[in-house]
Amino acid sequence: MPELPEVETSRRGILPYCKNQLVTGVIIRNFNLRWPVNRSLANQLSGQRIENISRRAKYLLFETDRGTLILHLGMSGSLRVICNDEPALKHDHVDIQLANKRTLRFNDPRRFGSIHFTRRPVEQHKLIRDLGPEPLSADFTADYLHSTASNRKIAIKNFIMNSRIVVGVGNIYASESLYLAGIHPARMASRISLSRYEKLVTSIKQVLRAAIDSGGSTLNDFIQPDGQPGYFQHHFRVYGKSGQPCEQCHRPISQMTIGQRSTFYCAQCQR
Ligand SMILES: [Zn+2]
Repeated sequence: MPELPEVETSRRGILPYCKNQLVTGVIIRNFNLRWPVNRSLANQLSGQRIENISRRAKYLLFETDRGTLILHLGMSGSLRVICNDEPALKHDHVDIQLANKRTLRFNDPRRFGSIHFTRRPVEQHKLIRDLGPEPLSADFTADYLHSTASNRKIAIKNFIMNSRIVVGVGNIYASESLYLAGIHPARMASRISLSRYEKLVTSIKQVLRAAIDSGGSTLNDFIQPDGQPGYFQHHFRVYGKSGQPCEQCHRPISQMTIGQRSTFYCAQCQR
């Protein structure tokens, strides 16, 4: 599943080919994504210039004069920039044709992705308005997490995976950052000191930045006609490593279920 680093890598991969390009046409082969694609999308977007592509949480925001296209890759979605005459394959649901004779193509086998267009300020959109701060922004601080956590009787892992608290910390990155911070994933969010939250915020930023950096090597994949661009393998310290030795204490990594999600941690190093 594309996590925040993959979405950010997708943004960087497609941006050079889409920025300041006029949309000359939109082809929608399948309207049945996670939510039905609005029938007016082609009309709304055609003739508009893509001024920029930004990102909020795991949403890509295509900014035009008329409004903003909000695209989510879902569980299995990917974007590619191809030549206009490249034949569509199975699961190629949406094409956005550009004046530079290229096409931005959205492929999504499982169809959990989504596409919306809004003419109102995007921060007021129902998908966006309740989101917490971006993890890599200056708004995401230990003070913020610590004060928000007071009275929260939930496991820290569930707390940081809640997109109203902070966006983009998926299951993998929650396990990895808690390991780096030495915090047990089941510890109550309200029972963690400010100084430990400082470590956690630093760790979250560190693991996400490292993953985004490692995506840099895949940027050229976005103009290949096939494949799954932006999906890359990271080096994980605990995720998926139950039974293997901890890098710090060499005891076996443990696994438990928190909030119905597999959670990996070191029982020795994380308290
Ligand atoms: Zn350990």
